[in-house]
Amino acid sequence: MKSITTLPAIHTKESFAPHKLGITAKVCLLFFICAFTSTTVVAAPTVAAPTVAASIRPLQLIAAAITDGISQPQLVLGKGQDPHHASLRPSERRTLNDADVVLWIGPMLEVPLQEIMAELAGSVLTVQDMPDITLHAIDGNLDPHVWMDSRNARQIAVQLTQTLANLDPANSLRYQSNQQKFLRALDELDTNFKQAVAPVQQRGWAVYHDAFRYFQRQFGLIQPLAPTESSTNQAGIRSITQLRSAIQQQQINCLLIEPVMNPAELQTLLGTDGLHIVSADVMGLDLTTSPTAYVLLLQNFGNTLITCLQGQP
Ligand SMILES: [Zn+2]
Repeated sequence: MKSITTLPAIHTKESFAPHKLGITAKVCLLFFICAFTSTTVVAAPTVAAPTVAASIRPLQLIAAAITDGISQPQLVLGKGQDPHHASLRPSERRTLNDADVVLWIGPMLEVPLQEIMAELAGSVLTVQDMPDITLHAIDGNLDPHVWMDSRNARQIAVQLTQTLANLDPANSLRYQSNQQKFLRALDELDTNFKQAVAPVQQRGWAVYHDAFRYFQRQFGLIQPLAPTESSTNQAGIRSITQLRSAIQQQQINCLLIEPVMNPAELQTLLGTDGLHIVSADVMGLDLTTSPTAYVLLLQNFGNTLITCLQGQP
């Protein structure tokens, strides 16, 4: 008999951030400042720049680096949407319809977007089909968290830059210089992380949601323990119990969870002596949209992981 019981109390939605009610105001304020600044810095274009819509927040943040000073990328799957189990709302459908360029991971993640993609008038960029994208599989299924490898972020940036430069030749140089800046920031980030993680690189760790394999493989870290079925955010009670035994047996002292989870509850379920439970934000929910926010997403994650591996709370 196969029975998987989900745990509603700690089931996480990656895009759900009830404690971030003030963020809309901040984003709006930033938008107006950026919009104002861009009109004063960039020569007034005769035609409006192409609009970009990104399915999920990490892609929106990559796009924001490329369109800096030209336009503000829109987010399709907004608050309360878990990309693994999303259902498209009318307003989100409109965002897709209105965009000149749509950026999404592909059918391995945003399943409900698949049908509408074929009907859109704008250019559709599907990350999983891009050339030179690194794809990993977990238990025979493609792991959709591709943005956690900075080499993939580079490929996404290059493809988006090309598409936008073709559609909007007047701003072509600006897109290209934004891309160069973004790639340089990622180079620096990777170099710094490699140095910083070296002393703790061979330590074991565990995750509640199996979303970090790209990052782990890019930097040659130990593969984290994870509950089965956790690549789509639906770990069952039995796999949580198995995870607890593995954590104890292997004397793991670092567990990464997502910001919406309750650490005290997980401590009760999984807790062993010396286990540090640290919150890591794979979606960049805590970040304000800006040209540097994607780099910050990876930087924050790297710092969080190092702190956790060092065994500090
Ligand atoms: Zn996920």
